[in-house]
Amino acid sequence: MRDKLINNFLRISSVPRSSGNEKQISDFFVEIAKNNNLDYYQDENYNLIIRKKGNIEGDSIAFQVHLDMVCKKRDNSNHDFYTDGIDVVINGDEVTAKDTSLGADQGVGLAIMLTLMEEDSIKHPDLEFLFTVEEETTFKGVITFPYDRVESKKMINLDYCMDNAVVVATAGDIVNEYTYEGQLSKKEMKSYKLTLDGLLGGNSGDYIDRSRDNAITLLVSKLIDKKVYLTSINGGTFENDVAVSCEIVLQTNDVLFNELGNSNFKMEQVENDESFSLEDTKNIFKQIIDLKSGRITEDSSGNLGLIRTIGNKVMIKYLYRCIKEEDLEEFSNSKSIFNVNMLYDDHIWKIKENSNMLKKYKEVYYKLFNEYPIEVVGQGGMEITSFQEAIDGIDIISIGANMTNIHTVDEITYISSWEKIYNIVVNMIKD
Ligand SMILES: [Zn+2]
Repeated sequence: MRDKLINNFLRISSVPRSSGNEKQISDFFVEIAKNNNLDYYQDENYNLIIRKKGNIEGDSIAFQVHLDMVCKKRDNSNHDFYTDGIDVVINGDEVTAKDTSLGADQGVGLAIMLTLMEEDSIKHPDLEFLFTVEEETTFKGVITFPYDRVESKKMINLDYCMDNAVVVATAGDIVNEYTYEGQLSKKEMKSYKLTLDGLLGGNSGDYIDRSRDNAITLLVSKLIDKKVYLTSINGGTFENDVAVSCEIVLQTNDVLFNELGNSNFKMEQVENDESFSLEDTKNIFKQIIDLKSGRITEDSSGNLGLIRTIGNKVMIKYLYRCIKEEDLEEFSNSKSIFNVNMLYDDHIWKIKENSNMLKKYKEVYYKLFNEYPIEVVGQGGMEITSFQEAIDGIDIISIGANMTNIHTVDEITYISSWEKIYNIVVNMIKD
């Protein structure tokens, strides 16, 4: 099976599939359906349902994953994600890509589904294969999905990244925009520009413990007790990503510091004669520190992803994630000296009570490996939440093969782990 899985992963990786550009990969699967005499339905957004008739009795089971991938490349790469396939590098068990993201998330899930579709040696009830678009960007797939055509009330989502675990819940999140309007005035003081960059960064959900080294929070924490007058603060790129850089311009008569214990810290004197009052500065710094980044409690985490100053206005984007409804509620009601505006929120997902899918998964896992899988709380369960809400009574689990550094050019996955997941699902559907 190893060779089939590898070959199928290569077939999928040869088809470009950036978010919003899923026609080719969706049509690829339509061709597979035609060649194997499988029923299919492709909608105008390239969401796709393929059905394979069972050879045993039993409830229909759906497999689901997204068609698109996050496209990143190294600075020196000429790769064109609209036309070029991924240059996959296989080294023993390890699979990486040359100079681009690999799309293991979720080329691996797609390869497992492709294998199940084409394989006739396995025993299975009716199977459905559900493919969504734009999971990595707009969630257009689950927003527009033709749910009324889905027949299964059991579903295996293959968009997780740890083969010894099963997702039993995903956190909800809230993204707030904070704005503050202060007053700038001219002052007779020296002005400095402080820059910190080159921190590790990454997706704040996947790299929650890196969020502590958020460049914005880190730089402000060094200034909070100093007598400084802020002129501007700018850092980060996106609420969900840990800020890798921050730049602060301020005025002061005090001697600050020359180094921060970080080789990427720079301070230089600049021409500038305007800044906020001491009180405005305190308010702004306090708000930044109050919005904690990284793990907050066992159940919650946060990320101050972006801050911008335009004239006398400061704007922050902050993401709060939590598995407890009451804590999300409390967060959304919390008071601030800034103006708070909620940009969006995602609901908490919890596995169906007394889930038969979870029971079956644990049984099969135990039979194969003589231990139980870990039950984890995942991040970002937008797709499973949508399927759960759209299909009454559906029983969903989320699993997947090992992969790390996803959404980066260092993405890596392991063939032995693909085999493990394939083996588990084949055993799950055979009786
Ligand atoms: Zn994914």
